[in-house]
Amino acid sequence: MADSSIEKTQILQKYLELDQRGRIIAEYVWIDGTGNLRSKGRTLKKKVTSIDQLPEWNFDGSSTNQAPGHDSDIYLKPVAFYPDPFRRGDNIVVLAACYNNDGTPNKFNHRHEAAKLFAAHKDEEIWFGLEQEYTLLDMYDNVYGWPKGGFPAPQGPYYCGVGTGKVYARDLIEAHYRACLYSGLELSGINAEVMPSQWEFQVGPCTGVDLGDQMWMARYLLHRVAEEFGIKISFHPKPLKGDWNGAGCHTNVSTKEMRQPGGMKYIEQAIEKLSKRHAEHIKLYGTDNELRLTGRHETASMTAFSSGVANRGSSIRIPRSVAKEGCGYFEDRRPASNIDPYLVTGIMCETVCGAIDSANMTKEFERESS
Ligand code: ADP
Ligand code: MN
Ligand code: MN
Ligand code: MN
Repeated sequence: MADSSIEKTQILQKYLELDQRGRIIAEYVWIDGTGNLRSKGRTLKKKVTSIDQLPEWNFDGSSTNQAPGHDSDIYLKPVAFYPDPFRRGDNIVVLAACYNNDGTPNKFNHRHEAAKLFAAHKDEEIWFGLEQEYTLLDMYDNVYGWPKGGFPAPQGPYYCGVGTGKVYARDLIEAHYRACLYSGLELSGINAEVMPSQWEFQVGPCTGVDLGDQMWMARYLLHRVAEEFGIKISFHPKPLKGDWNGAGCHTNVSTKEMRQPGGMKYIEQAIEKLSKRHAEHIKLYGTDNELRLTGRHETASMTAFSSGVANRGSSIRIPRSVAKEGCGYFEDRRPASNIDPYLVTGIMCETVCGAIDSANMTKEFERESS
């Protein structure tokens, strides 16, 4: 009998090497009624090469806070699939969007409306790069690796830290990075953050709705990898009160015009538009974000809009290199780590490229609580 986890891993390995006889396993992943992720697997007869080969499926929405018990079926409509880094081979992970019995999008399916905006503004070629910050917790919800009942030394040596006592769980972060690349996700980088046991990965640049798809799948892979290390992932924007940085999801944005020579003019126009809708954007920028956007710890105030070149204390930052070249992108520093990327990229497209009659991201957000 296996006593240690190493022995169990060796036993499992024997079964993982068994031939699947041409069939593949598709793990369907979806966003539940609490903004968390769920998944379940199914066998398919053969290798999948395009999204329309994937069947619709369903699940019991009354167990995920997504439907009442008397009408509990929620439908899973595949929207994207990626190589499965856990099962490997031809096995895949499938991102599915949730629909109710009557065909309407389920309450946490914000992809449906956001996709309409991106389709309407296809020619603007809007790109996003999101910086996902998050915090590692142990099984008992203490910050991973911190001294029991105490605190590590104050912030300073941890951001991009190197060396024992300055960096935590590099193994988990490395595993997640490789898993994302294996799956074909556009991870542009990773770094350790200012608070010890806080990390960041960046997804992008991706066009339109693809950013939201990839971000949700990157989060899924992170939770799955973390299971193996017995570590919990927290996306709370201020996991610890006091002199510890919060966690955000900086949203970098550009349109085709902004990326071309002279693009600065369009970046300035976009910032002007954003300044007029600050309150509407903030509503969609994550729960408990008021605990993070205090004007301290490299954040701007929640109640006042500001922008500046290379200013990490403003709502919107124009990177120094962009100002120098006169074109590129801008960074919205307001979004919290627990955002729904579909909502944030959706309203960004709505504000920068223009509203359309058939989709309104503010209304879309309010549907969550209805
Ligand atoms: P920071 O200096 O704020 O920590 P990062 O390097 O963490 O910046 O993240 C920058 C993000 O900006 C990356 O996700 C990158 O993909 C994205 N990015 C780069 N160029 C563009 C662009 N033209 N449009 C949108 N996003 C971009
Ligand atoms: Mn960053
Ligand atoms: Mn960061
Ligand atoms: Mn940033």
